[in-house]
Amino acid sequence: MRNRLIRFMEGRYGVDKLHYFLFIVSLVLLFIGSFAVNTFIKAFFLLIALAITVIALLRIFSRNKYKRSLENLMYIKLRDKVSGFVKTRIKMFRERKTHRFFKCPNCKVTLRVPKGKGSIRITCPKCRESFTEKT
Ligand SMILES: [Zn+2]
Repeated sequence: MRNRLIRFMEGRYGVDKLHYFLFIVSLVLLFIGSFAVNTFIKAFFLLIALAITVIALLRIFSRNKYKRSLENLMYIKLRDKVSGFVKTRIKMFRERKTHRFFKCPNCKVTLRVPKGKGSIRITCPKCRESFTEKT
């Protein structure tokens, strides 16, 4: 039995980070759907959760490893972008009393300067663009 399972999984993609994400999303949808009073809304959540589960299973048993790993890579890139954005916002909120944040008008990178220094000339360390702001 065990050998048969191993032979069945040979050449198949298996589980990756995107799989865990899809699993958690479907669980969250099931959880939310279970609280819905309206039968139609409940069925809607359950159907989406089911569809995501089916997609996750198809990915596990897929033989096209290249495409599945590309999907996983896209997911990881997007996840890192979102988590980077959220971390920056949290940092900006924590330091709001001691620092001010400006966007470089040229390369759009976020710059952090100490608060209460009056009008200062800020030079972007990335592109060397220089601009004046009140702190
Ligand atoms: Zn810049």
